[in-house]
Amino acid sequence: MKKQIEKVLSPPPPHMVGDGFRVHNFFPGPYGEMTRMSPFFMMDYGAKIEFPASEHQRGVGVHPHRGFETVTIAYAGKVAHHDSAGNSGIIGEGEVQWMTAASGILHKEYHEKEFARKGGAFQMVQLWVNLPAKDKMSKPKYQGISVDQMGKYILPDNGGRVDVIAGEFKGVKGAASTFTPMHVYNLYLNKGAKISFELPENFNTGLLVAEGEIKVNDEKNVPLDHFLLFKNSGTEITVEALSDVKVLVLSGEPINEPIVAYGPFLMNTKEEIIQAYDDVNSGKFGVLED
Ligand code: MN
Repeated sequence: MKKQIEKVLSPPPPHMVGDGFRVHNFFPGPYGEMTRMSPFFMMDYGAKIEFPASEHQRGVGVHPHRGFETVTIAYAGKVAHHDSAGNSGIIGEGEVQWMTAASGILHKEYHEKEFARKGGAFQMVQLWVNLPAKDKMSKPKYQGISVDQMGKYILPDNGGRVDVIAGEFKGVKGAASTFTPMHVYNLYLNKGAKISFELPENFNTGLLVAEGEIKVNDEKNVPLDHFLLFKNSGTEITVEALSDVKVLVLSGEPINEPIVAYGPFLMNTKEEIIQAYDDVNSGKFGVLED
């Protein structure tokens, strides 16, 4: 049975994160109302814009996180990351930084130096992937995932390809290790290509059109920069490329635990949020220079 469509969301008005990321927050939204994409708690989408050349590397300075993972996907331009666990990385088009904050890190996120110097088109997504209570205080880690490392599903007749970032697509395994079951793909389809795939009924599922326009389940057109949320009924999805397209697909098993989100922390109780602030202030998140 087809996975039923719940709604198509237009991009909300953008806001700046630091001076480097101009993002549309699709969820949870300004009032924290949409938590039904769990385990994906937050999605900030930086639609494609031009940044002028700059000697200054725009971005967000040192800040903490605890209780979840930040997953950054670059679609245009280059993003750099540095954290207090000693990890760093630079990602370009189609690549992913899968940063597990878990028990706590300090990090900074910014435009890569050469990209900043030249300027140009910049487009990215950042997801906050929640962790179950039992893993929230596990050790931080970092997975930098290049396009080559991702699982590849090639469509017939020059239809394009699917990069499997996490989970599995038609038997092709993804590159990221995750704490809870989820599927994350980039679909790169050429105009006219059509692909069907199945995702579990109980997994919260949505997709973002990062380039072009698609038709979903032969029924709904989804334009550029829009997010389609599926209902939790049915399993089969059909995506037809009405132009050359890039589509981010997210599908995950919900984490059915209480959430208390405050600032850069995502925990289960208010006490744990207070503890996180105490731990940052007493230096337990380590040290990172600005
Ligand atoms: Mn961050």
